Amino acid sequence: MPLMKRTTSFFAALILALSLMLNVSGSSRRTVQVRLNGEAVPFDTAAYIENNRTMVPLRAVAEALGLTVTWHHSGSTVDLIHGDWTPSLAGRTIVVDPGHGGSATGAVYEGVKESALNLAIAQKTAAALEALGAKAVLTRTGDTDLSLYARTELASRHKADLFLSVHCNSSATNREATGIYTAYKGGSRQSLALADLLRQTMVGATGAADMGTHNRSDLAVLRTARMPASLVECGFMSTPSELRLLQDPSYQALLAQGIARGAALYLAA
Ligand SMILES: [Zn+2]
Repeated sequence: MPLMKRTTSFFAALILALSLMLNVSGSSRRTVQVRLNGEAVPFDTAAYIENNRTMVPLRAVAEALGLTVTWHHSGSTVDLIHGDWTPSLAGRTIVVDPGHGGSATGAVYEGVKESALNLAIAQKTAAALEALGAKAVLTRTGDTDLSLYARTELASRHKADLFLSVHCNSSATNREATGIYTAYKGGSRQSLALADLLRQTMVGATGAADMGTHNRSDLAVLRTARMPASLVECGFMSTPSELRLLQDPSYQALLAQGIARGAALYLAA
């Protein structure tokens, strides 16, 4: 109950801040300071003027306040999510694909194979999805070879609602790179929305750096998926401090929670 009350007053303050801003008039793009309970909310998108009203972008303000923003496909509803609220995944089927496997190890750093990290994170993701009521199907459950096409064919066979491919990143040039990177197939608004949500929820769950959402139509698993699909890069194996995190079962569980929550928020839209 106290949480509910806090959430309600939080939204009341947000709506007040936004409606006050809407009454400011002007003649061009301008910088507007938004304050919540008297404290400045740092957001980095300029407001703009239309019909003598100053419009403040909802996404920029809401994300600056730590809310997760979901636009519904219709474009006429937006969900602002505060705190840990996660919708149910009952009745949904999600295919989780641990990248690489068998002779295809992916990157190897300090003797750690990407394929093994991907499997550990994907198994925890499947468990987190099932805890939310989904049927989760892994494309592989052991250290085995599997073609890129077999992975998305499995998703089609199961009539999956989503296809999520789990990978870990590496950089040959920047040994200090860290953070979460999510990818989608260009031209698919659904996949872009999914990848963008996964980025937000994974960063939110782990506190990792945000490496953005990227158009990666070059990736076969995204190109051949017949349902909304995203490939997530959970962190940089090439950066020793992040490699240690990626091997830590409790950090893997946070990544898994972030992925499951992103999937649930997407499918609730
Ligand atoms: Zn990979």
